[in-house]
Amino acid sequence: MDLHSGLPYWVIKNSLLDYFHPLEDEFSTDIVVVGSGITGALMVHELCSAGLKCCVVDKRSIATGSSAASTALLQYEIDVPLCRMSDMIGEDNAVSAYRACLQSISDIEKVLESTGVDGCFERVPSLFYASTPKDEQLVKEEYEMRKKHNLPVCLLGKEEIKKRYKLEAPGCGLLNEVSAQIDAYRAATGLLLYHMKKDGLEVFTHTGVKECVEKQGGYVIETDGEHKINCKYVIVAAGFEAGKFLPQEIMDLTSTYALVSHPVNPAELWPEHCLIWETADPYLYIRTTGGNRIIIGGEDEKFCDPECRDALLRKKTRILEKKFKKLFPDIPFKTEMAWCGTFSTTKDGLPFIGTWPGKDRMFFDLGYGGNGITFSMIGAQIICRQIQGMEDERSKIFGYERIEKYW
Ligand SMILES: Cc1cc2nc3c(=O)[nH]c(=O)nc-3n(C[C@H](O)[C@H](O)[C@H](O)COP(=O)(O)OP(=O)(O)OC[C@H]3O[C@@H](n4cnc5c(N)ncnc54)[C@H](O)[C@@H]3O)c2cc1C
Repeated sequence: MDLHSGLPYWVIKNSLLDYFHPLEDEFSTDIVVVGSGITGALMVHELCSAGLKCCVVDKRSIATGSSAASTALLQYEIDVPLCRMSDMIGEDNAVSAYRACLQSISDIEKVLESTGVDGCFERVPSLFYASTPKDEQLVKEEYEMRKKHNLPVCLLGKEEIKKRYKLEAPGCGLLNEVSAQIDAYRAATGLLLYHMKKDGLEVFTHTGVKECVEKQGGYVIETDGEHKINCKYVIVAAGFEAGKFLPQEIMDLTSTYALVSHPVNPAELWPEHCLIWETADPYLYIRTTGGNRIIIGGEDEKFCDPECRDALLRKKTRILEKKFKKLFPDIPFKTEMAWCGTFSTTKDGLPFIGTWPGKDRMFFDLGYGGNGITFSMIGAQIICRQIQGMEDERSKIFGYERIEKYW
């Protein structure tokens, strides 16, 4: 699958790693992680930290799948508002999902701090505004629900938003001070390089997994180079291409667009550089970078055909620029680079983490949805515990049980 095209900012900013290490022989280890993106990297970090023996296999260069295209906002707020998710999966489960995401941001921060990996993690507030006056009702309902459960949130009126952030929002909004942003490509490559050096981790790039054949006590992984890896467990961290390993389709693949601006005079940016997103579906979202650039994303389309997706890049760039201008008429925005990518959502806005019934040694860490990266962190922790025979309360919310119930 062609995961992205155009010019994703992060591979230019950080430069591409010249690491080339395909599997060229038979190999044996305890755990094989399929995928070297941010999910695989966080997974490996948990496994290595627990002293478990693993390797990574990726058909591309390190982290050049979706993680290289990600705009990497870290939010505890999930694409499906808490008040709506409560109707779908029950209030307790929905609150637990929101709490898990809140914790995940701090856990990602700790992983980067403890390894000394510079993933450009930065704490920033986040503003979620009503896209139309009609959506103010949803924002207020959401505010009440989050307050009820002591989740960090405050309600700002339209005028307050304008005064505080110079933003021409169509309606009121919710603000929290606990969000963050990272550079997912830099974080993933940094973490993998760290464990290669510290733990002798093997990362086999340019090695596609053709098939995972079950055997007594584990799997034989067959690669496209006709080599085999013997292992006890497989963890699929293959992002939006994980479909071939799943017995049933659980995600809708869509297309999404993003742009990064020229650097802007810092005095012209909005105060606090908060993340910005809205109630519209699909939603527009905005963040800044350490170098005072602005990233805008959104304009999702309900198809994933790369040719159709790419054909729309220019048109979508113009639309995103126009939408930004409407919100911030005084900030000069000039597109430096634009790109588009495949994206995926699930029916309840939650990821799929865990095993499929009957396949106890194959785990999935699939952080589908706008919170992909925070979900990946949760998945890495849950799976690492499960492999060690420990229970994790969160597995009920993100695992197969709910798919069986709601799909
Ligand atoms: C434009 C855009 C904006 C986004 N914005 C955000 C955001 O603001 N916040 C957020 O949290 N998330 C965001 N996401 C989602 C987020 O980027 C993803 O959830 C995340 O990058 C997924 O990481 P991953 O490691 O699972 O997948 P990937 O980075 O795609 O890594 C999976 C790897 O698996 C490898 N692979 C696949 N199949 C095989 C196989 N058969 N054999 C060997 N290797 C294989 C691939 O080559 C790939 O390198 C965004 C995504 C896009 C495209």
